Formats: sequence, C-alpha cells, structure tokens
Amino acid sequence: MKTLYFDNNATTRVAPEVLEAMLPYLKDFYGNPSSMHAFGGQVAVRVREAREQVAALLGAQPDEIVFTSCGTESDNAAIRSALLQAPEKRHIVTSRVEHPAVKALCADLALRGYRVTELPVDSEGRLDLDQYRKSLTPDTAIVSLMWANNETGVVFPVVEAAQIARERGVLFHTDAVQAVGKIPIDLSKTAIDMLSLSGHKLHAPKGIGALYLRRGTKFSPFLIGGHQEKGRRGGTENTPGIVALGKACELAAENLEIENTLVRRLRDRLENRILSLVPNTRVNGDRFNRLPNTTNISFEFVEGEAILLMMNEYGICASSGSACTSGSLQPSHVLRSMGVPYTMAHGSIRFSLSIYNTEEEVDFVLEKVPPIIETLRGLSPFWKENAKVCQKTG
Ligand code: PLP
Repeated sequence: MKTLYFDNNATTRVAPEVLEAMLPYLKDFYGNPSSMHAFGGQVAVRVREAREQVAALLGAQPDEIVFTSCGTESDNAAIRSALLQAPEKRHIVTSRVEHPAVKALCADLALRGYRVTELPVDSEGRLDLDQYRKSLTPDTAIVSLMWANNETGVVFPVVEAAQIARERGVLFHTDAVQAVGKIPIDLSKTAIDMLSLSGHKLHAPKGIGALYLRRGTKFSPFLIGGHQEKGRRGGTENTPGIVALGKACELAAENLEIENTLVRRLRDRLENRILSLVPNTRVNGDRFNRLPNTTNISFEFVEGEAILLMMNEYGICASSGSACTSGSLQPSHVLRSMGVPYTMAHGSIRFSLSIYNTEEEVDFVLEKVPPIIETLRGLSPFWKENAKVCQKTG
C-alpha cells in the first residue's frame, strides 16, 4: 500500500539530495573535524560550509550558528542559558501553546522557584501584543515564544515581540522549529537573540538541530565538555547530520517559493473541499496568518483517533489534536487554550503537507475522508442525538 504522508509537522522524509550529501560522511569521511590531520580537516571544511548554509537560510552569520542534537536541546539550551546569565532575574514569559520542549521545561523551572507567565491566546490561536508588553517586568530574564504553532500552524508576531523585548532589555528566544523552511526568515532585520530549529522538520534526518545565537549574546553552554562549537556545545560533532542540515537549509531556501505557492494551494484545496464536503467541520486557528502547509480541521462528534485509524487503512498519515496517552483522551493544550468546543476539539485532525505531496494524493484524501466521517458519525450516539441541530448548523 502506498503511504500518503500528510504529517510533515511531526517529521519529514529525508530529501534525496540531503541523503546523497551526507552519505560520504557516514561512509568514507569519518574523520573527527577537531583532528590535526588532513583527513579530519576535510570534514571540518564541510562543517564550516554547512554552518554557512544554515546561516544563509536565516539571514545570520555563520558564527551565530551552534549545532545541537534537536529542537528540544536548542530550546533547553537557550532558556537555561538566559537564566544562568542573569541569576538575579526569576521571571520567564512564554505562551500557553508552546511545544512541550518549552512548556514542560518552564513547568519544571516553575517548580524550582521561577515565576512563569504563560500568555493566553484567543479563539484563533493569536497572541495579544498589549498583554505581552504588560507581562514584561524588570525581573524578566527571558521571553520564549514560538514562531509558528506545530498543531495549528498559527504564526506569532515574533519580530514585533522581539523588538519590544529589546526595548525593555529582555532576551528574546523563539522556537522556530516549525517556521524554518516554511516562511521567510531574516534574522539580520530582527531583534531576536536566540532561535531554535530542528533538521528533521525540514527534510534532514533526526538527531540534528541548531541554535542561532546573536553575536554578543552571552551564553552558558547546556552541554559542558570539549571545545567544540567554540565551547558553546560540548560533544564530537554529528558530522553527517551537520552536512545534511546544511544541504537541507540550502534546499529549503530554494523551495521557499514552492512552499508558499504550490504547497499552500494543495493545503487550501484539501481544507476548502473538506469544509464543503463534510458538514459540521471547522478550521482551528487563524486562517490568514498561518504556515502554508498546515491545516487543523475539527470534525464534530467524532474521535480524532478513530479518524486516524480509518485513514491509516488507506495509508493516509496525519495527526490528531487529542492524545490518549494519558488514558483520558484529552484534547491538546493548544486547542484547549483556544477554547475550541469540546465536541470539536476531540475530533481534530492536523494535515501537514510538504513539497513532496501531490494533487493526486490530496484528491485521494478528499475521496476517502467524507465517507470515513459519515461512517463514524453513524456510530456516534452524540451525532444521532444532535443530528437535527447539526444539519441545521452544518
Ligand atoms: N518545537 C516545536 C514547535 C516542535 O514542533 C517540535 C517537534 O515537534 C520541537 C520543538 C521539538 O523538536 P525535536 O523533535 O527536534 O526535539
């Protein structure tokens, strides 16, 4: 069975060009870039090139890029460093809809005596900049706001937020794991001090990420060890991963236009057709200020997990906005923060596309999803109970 992959915010396929670029560094060029000999030296040259490729995608300088193992490490490194650099400050500003890489870390820091302000979002998942401005105090050590939300794709005004933070003398970090490669980013024109990205979200393999550290930003390393990464991250470099990330960033820059035209058009086709073919559906999140590849659609009175299982029968991969891992089948914190009604939040599905999706694949999903929802609603006592009202409001 063919896999129809609509789960690119979870992870992406490794681009063939990326695989090709990294393979020699797994096979032949296995030298340590820190070694004195030429065999290691040639790897060091490639690491330098990769750093330039990552920097170019971000509008940054190569020496502002620190390679890490993933987005989570970059987030942890940024926030912990800011706190270590200003030990007298005990306040963190973040949002309610962050990825656990930031949210769970801040919850842990709160247990250790830090005051954490989690800014709310409105029903469209948007941040209120006035409320944000008011949340900053002389005690604030760091602001950490995501550039784009992984579940809804909603884009936060981080450029404006970073400027406000700078005016108040507060460090600004953004988790841009979902934004990099999908929307244009030019850090040279912003006041952002630190930015996290992750290779596996942009067609590089898992296990490689990067942290952008604006020149002059004081930094305490998260991994203390060797002198690698100019002492900013100990540990022998993941050279195949670094080469892969460099290539992936180069490709992402080339494909940015496609993301914002073809991918956006495919996403819109999928979204608009589902909304018109299936009654009692809605899109979660601000449709006008969103990543071009993401749609989060709620199907009222159906469980997201059941939809995923039935789509899986056809090889369609997506994600749901509720998680049964806790046994309670709670809607996600993102949808709850947006106040998405209970019956809608439970039946939410995130489709996230990439440049590798085709119109045929979208049409296949459009052929399969409406009957899946009809079947599941046929089994739902809530749907039957509410059918009349539903049809009226549909
Ligand atoms: N931040 C966001 C917004 C994400 O979507 C993810 C992964 O889903 C992460 C951080 C964590 O990235 P990684 O899986 O590379 O640790």
